[in-house]
Amino acid sequence: MASAGPPPEAWQAEADIVVIGSGATGMTAAIVAREAGASVIVVEQEHDIGGHAITSGGNVPLGGGTRAQRKHGITDSPELLFRDLTDWSVVEPNGFPDYRYNDREIVRAFVDCNVETFDWLVAHGVVFVDKAPDAQGGNAVGNSAPREMHCAVSHWPMVQTGRPADPKEQASRSSGNGLMRPLEAAARQAGVRILLRHRMIGLYREAPTAGRVLGIAVDHAGTRLAIRARQAVIIGTGGSTGNVNFRRMVDPRLTEEYCGLAGMPWSDQDASGELAAMAIGASLWGMYNQVGEFGFNLTKPAAIGCRYGYQNLRWYPGSAVFDKAGSIGLPVRDWQDVITVNMLGQRFYAETGPGFTTNNYKSLDPYTQGSWRNANNVAFRPNNWLNAAMAGIGDGHNGGGPIWAVFDADAVRREEWVTEAPHVDRAGGFFFGADTLAELADKIAMRHQRVRMPPENLERTVARYNGFVESGVDEDVAKPRPLHKIATPPFFAAWATPVIHDTRMGLRIDAQCRVIDLAGQVIPGLYCGGESAGGFSQHGLARAICQGYVAGRDAVHRSGDASPATGSAD
Ligand SMILES: Cc1cc2nc3c(=O)[nH]c(=O)nc-3n(C[C@H](O)[C@H](O)[C@H](O)COP(=O)(O)OP(=O)(O)OC[C@H]3O[C@@H](n4cnc5c(N)ncnc54)[C@H](O)[C@@H]3O)c2cc1C
Repeated sequence: MASAGPPPEAWQAEADIVVIGSGATGMTAAIVAREAGASVIVVEQEHDIGGHAITSGGNVPLGGGTRAQRKHGITDSPELLFRDLTDWSVVEPNGFPDYRYNDREIVRAFVDCNVETFDWLVAHGVVFVDKAPDAQGGNAVGNSAPREMHCAVSHWPMVQTGRPADPKEQASRSSGNGLMRPLEAAARQAGVRILLRHRMIGLYREAPTAGRVLGIAVDHAGTRLAIRARQAVIIGTGGSTGNVNFRRMVDPRLTEEYCGLAGMPWSDQDASGELAAMAIGASLWGMYNQVGEFGFNLTKPAAIGCRYGYQNLRWYPGSAVFDKAGSIGLPVRDWQDVITVNMLGQRFYAETGPGFTTNNYKSLDPYTQGSWRNANNVAFRPNNWLNAAMAGIGDGHNGGGPIWAVFDADAVRREEWVTEAPHVDRAGGFFFGADTLAELADKIAMRHQRVRMPPENLERTVARYNGFVESGVDEDVAKPRPLHKIATPPFFAAWATPVIHDTRMGLRIDAQCRVIDLAGQVIPGLYCGGESAGGFSQHGLARAICQGYVAGRDAVHRSGDASPATGSAD
């Protein structure tokens, strides 16, 4: 994406603050700025608000001594949280550190506003499930105290189904629905102007890489519009992992076949915010955190035979985006029921094997903040299904190619799967069935299967696996005690390719969420938060909401002033 070009002679709309994206960062920033007295326009490229936040589990790790923590006798403080989130000594079982590369200034700003952000959410209609904070659903949220709060799903239609949740669950089940619909209502009530189907395509700055940011260029149904920001533009575009070329800057393996991003097709993470800011001089930050093999950056699919197999998101007919999603997918209860093969029909890892792990309260037990002793509590287990799946077929290409779960009619019965639409996506090339294995291999044709699967390979692989079931020993990849032969037609091949999720690197910001350029200077009038901002390795909502809160407040109070970056002393 290039810059929007020279500032236009006429603006089609204007506001004090222009926010890009209506997800966790953008909606929060918009409300805070509006309630501080600014006029606010939010542009959202999709047909509805919410971004990944509304598809999320609504698990929000806000700690530091929130009212909910105090009510349940949990001791926490901003200082304890800060030391947790910058603890050099915490590593995953594969040796990857969770917090070591966090930017101290950015984490400090986060911990200092957790308590007030929690109160602010409650004051703006978010209802948290009435129970003690726990450790469920978060990752990279620190080890010293339980901090996970859960947004009650409430009565609004869920984006996944188009229907409200069961009334019995509306106060007890967690969902991003219960976070984003109340915030949308609060924003509309406050007078925030939300422009749906308006896609930001560039930023206007006084000079190509100098001066203030003046506004944004937008595409609306093929028409280009210029929207002026009298004080500031806030980027809340949700990250970059949906952009193949962008994500490959940090991991060359992430080629096109990883096309089933978590959160899509409700919204993408297309790097548009990052690219627009880079085009006017912005810097990236904290890029290690994107390659660190922890958390949900990359996940093993939990549903197969569909394009979008992320473990915590299923799309159903009735959802406004079901036509784009294509199918519900087949949830895998037991990986003993399938074998996973690469494009050549070869197994590569024990199907029951794990993905990356996450760090949270009690992940290390006992935990001693900042101590070398913590490493003694980690059993070194570097292997995982994901890296083997992405290793490829040795033909010089970078990505691992499609991974197929292969199984037979008996597995379908055991798992109680339905192998037709809307459960599987045959039309999209994510599911195939045939009466023989050779015919099955022959049928596998879709745009990411760039080499033919040799039928004799798949026959040999299955015959060998069936032998391991008889002997009880998997001599190839040591799947523990292989249980079921693949022998009863029809046979099936279901898409089971790794899923990309979080962005944990992005634009360089300071403590006030002001975007910093390649010379370490503030870009006047430009802010960013959430997954499009770098320097903070934490999954999800809490950092997005907090950074939206900080950015919205600072943008109004500072009015776009360009005082020096507070963190530029490094
Ligand atoms: C299935 C799922 C479950 C999750 N569960 C949890 C959980 O339980 N707890 C947790 O902490 N985190 C969870 N997360 C992660 C969390 O939802 C995200 O980290 C968070 O929403 C990021 O906030 P954001 O504001 O950066 O981006 P988003 O919330 O994704 O918002 C970005 C918005 O910007 C819009 N946009 C992008 N580009 C443009 C453009 N050029 N012009 C206009 N608009 C644009 C997008 O359409 C989108 O609406 C989950 C994510 C998913 C996908």
